[in-house]
Amino acid sequence: MAETLKGLNSLLVHVGEAPDPVSGSVTPPIYQTSTFAFPTNESMADFMNEQKAGYIYTRLGNPNFTVAEAKIARLEGAEKCLVVASGMAAVSTALLSVCSSGDHIIAHADIYGGSFGLLHDLLPRFGVGTTFMDLGDPAAVEAALRPETKVIHLETPSNPALRLADISAIAEVAHRHGVKVIVDNTFATPVNQRPLALGADAVIHSGTKYLNGHSDVIAGAIAGSADFILGCSDVARKVGGTLNAFDAWLLGRGLKTLGLRVARQNENGQAVAEYLARHAAVAEVLYPGLPSHPQHQLAKRQMKGYGGVLSIRLKGGQAAVDRLLDRVELFARAVSLGSVESLITQPVAAVHRFVPAEFQAMGGITPDLVRIAVGIEDPDDLIRDLEQALA
Ligand SMILES: *Cc1c(COP(=O)(O)O)cnc(C)c1O
Repeated sequence: MAETLKGLNSLLVHVGEAPDPVSGSVTPPIYQTSTFAFPTNESMADFMNEQKAGYIYTRLGNPNFTVAEAKIARLEGAEKCLVVASGMAAVSTALLSVCSSGDHIIAHADIYGGSFGLLHDLLPRFGVGTTFMDLGDPAAVEAALRPETKVIHLETPSNPALRLADISAIAEVAHRHGVKVIVDNTFATPVNQRPLALGADAVIHSGTKYLNGHSDVIAGAIAGSADFILGCSDVARKVGGTLNAFDAWLLGRGLKTLGLRVARQNENGQAVAEYLARHAAVAEVLYPGLPSHPQHQLAKRQMKGYGGVLSIRLKGGQAAVDRLLDRVELFARAVSLGSVESLITQPVAAVHRFVPAEFQAMGGITPDLVRIAVGIEDPDDLIRDLEQALA
């Protein structure tokens, strides 16, 4: 059935799902088990030898993982997907599957703070170095490649400065040199942007954000070729950052409404960005859906929608930032994004607090920057809340 479906929302609802053959349950049972029994000792030995599709032990796979993986793979246009315990488990698993001691990575400075810490603080201890640079100019990226460069790791739109990278131009440069491109597609989601179709080798998600969409799960996913995901599975089972059945079940449930949620968040993002762009207290609005965004043309080419995250540069220094964040009533002062409720945060005080000043400057992560992640509420209510908070 799901093979003949074409529409995004139909796929999200039906891929990976079938009524439970035992009970007829329309939703998948939660397979809350650590291990799976085999009918005979011989069948168990056979299974292990032939690496058959099926289940042995939940660190290696679980039917609830399979449902979420099928939906994400189909949406990203990937052969395979692997769900893991968090977005950071996805980033680290993917990079560890490709890099060995002596290898080199290229990334930009305004990436997720946790990913920055992995690349800047942890991987060098294992002999893997990273060059942080602006990925806006593919020729400069090509010049920064070294014989030992294995991966270009990028987020587009970036966090929190909402800068874009041209995925097809960077993939073209990378592939000429045998380098892989991994795109963290958390911000855009496959509803708005499909990096594999643009030439990326793998896609990463913090499933905590839009994919699950309800601020009640920490999860991650990697999607790519069967070969790439096999390498990731091998790392994941050794490192051990496994998801669990219930969170995978919630992730599968959340994914069913991804298309509806993101469509609404695109509308809310645009409405709030346009409102704030006219506001006298705001020096600048960073949102790829605004014609004033320096890469708006690239956004139109590469994205189907511009998402629910925007950042603003506020006039009036720290006092103005404190005033806005303390006065909002509907927006929660919280890190994270991509959920049904709206959140607001000051990156230098929270997620990007431990990024060294030099890299904050490179990434445009300034103290006057406030990141807004809109939910699915009514846009008039969001705007009214910002209006009273900025008054
Ligand atoms: C949140 C986030 C991550 C990390 O995901 P967790 O689920 O919190 O581990 C990675 N990349 C981006 C872009 C994120 O927003």
